[in-house]
Amino acid sequence: MTERTAATDTIAAISTPPGRGGIGIVRLSGTDSVSIAAQLVRLRHPLMPAHVRLADVIAYSETGAELEVIDEALVTYFEAPNSYTSEDVVEIAAHGSPVILDFLLRRALALGARLADPGEFTQRAFLSGRLDLTQAEAVRDLIEAQTLTQARQAASQMGGALSRRVMPVKHALVELIALLEAGIDFAEDDVDVAPQVEIARRIDALKPPLTALEASFARGRLVHYGLTLAIVGRPNAGKSSLFNRLVERDRAIVTASPGTTRDLVTERISLDGIPLELVDTAGLREGLEEAEQMGIRRSREALADADLVLIVLDATEPINEEERRLLAATDSRPALIAVNKSDLIANDRAASDLYAKELLDVPALATSALTGEGIEELRAQILRLATGGAAAETGLLTNLRQHQAVTDTLNALADASRANASSIPHEMILLDLYRALWALDSLTGQTTSDDILNLIFSTFCIGK
Ligand code: GDP
Repeated sequence: MTERTAATDTIAAISTPPGRGGIGIVRLSGTDSVSIAAQLVRLRHPLMPAHVRLADVIAYSETGAELEVIDEALVTYFEAPNSYTSEDVVEIAAHGSPVILDFLLRRALALGARLADPGEFTQRAFLSGRLDLTQAEAVRDLIEAQTLTQARQAASQMGGALSRRVMPVKHALVELIALLEAGIDFAEDDVDVAPQVEIARRIDALKPPLTALEASFARGRLVHYGLTLAIVGRPNAGKSSLFNRLVERDRAIVTASPGTTRDLVTERISLDGIPLELVDTAGLREGLEEAEQMGIRRSREALADADLVLIVLDATEPINEEERRLLAATDSRPALIAVNKSDLIANDRAASDLYAKELLDVPALATSALTGEGIEELRAQILRLATGGAAAETGLLTNLRQHQAVTDTLNALADASRANASSIPHEMILLDLYRALWALDSLTGQTTSDDILNLIFSTFCIGK
């Protein structure tokens, strides 16, 4: 296991987002935080741990002479180890003017601080052992959350929900390793402390919780990454109208980006807290003859990337060849059909609905983008399709790195089981078990290489 040494220099960054705001915060962390802060601003009272102090921000001439007061700031001192990073931390909350914050930061650097790398405050919290890697990742996820469900998920992981779920498995694994190690030590005395069946039983007992954890990624991935829903169908079926209907209530949680790639219109909505990217293939308006052709081609392109597919049929028109092909092209993809313009047909003529159902084993639903009929049910069906009925649980795996760590653990355990079954010497089984432990520990960052750690923390924003 790598021993990591704590950093010794003092870092500084503007921790609030760029731009103007009511307040803006410059944060310092490291042994010189207090002395730098004391020179950086004119404190009205000396800093005291866990106390807020009023201070003047003063401009200086080129020769270093004090000019005038340019702002008032509130300064908070968090004494090591009771701070976010476990180091001495000082936060200077000035007014949120980029000019003032930039001035403070530059001066802090001139006074001996170093500009923090992205995520370096959190990295220090990790290095000091205050957060494990899943918790550190959760900090980033919380900041990046676009829905409340994502925020709740991140907060629970930040509180250690995932680590707690892994802990009992790790303990049992370590116990088994200890048992086998002891067996080896005592081998000469001919004491068989771990007979084959007992080893098998113990390895097998490790698997179900890990398998459940691995499976939790289905839900975790959904909450974390969201899904793409492609809305496909022939021109004029009502794709754009349905798209707008779906978007109107859950209006974009981030920015709309019309016509970004390949002339597809995309918009993000939050469907019950799950980020859903809608891709409308009808964003283009070519010449009429081309439209049909292009529409289908675009639909196929959108289809290729989408997790879910919403096929829009026109209830007033019989299904044509192209739609038949489109339906076939959804393959085994999770899909549902909206038979749109239901307002235009009499109830007893809603046969196209059934027709669609027969055509493919896909749920079909009568909708009207005009009157709003069926839209709520459409939302519910999309959600059902998205979650696959997966129940909410805590301590989910939320990213590929975590998922890989659990998969690697399970693979190593499978190898250990095989080795044990073929009566291979315990030394060899131990190799597999150590591999499993290594993989499991990489989940919480204990055995994650520095390169990978740096990569992870570089995805954070500066000042966090
Ligand atoms: P797209 O080419 O598939 O995106 O189709 P649009 O959404 O642009 O709709 C084509 C035409 O059908 C427009 O004139 C819409 O107003 C109309 N339309 C769409 N949905 C409905 C519906 O549910 N009922 C009725 N009566 N008209 C609709």
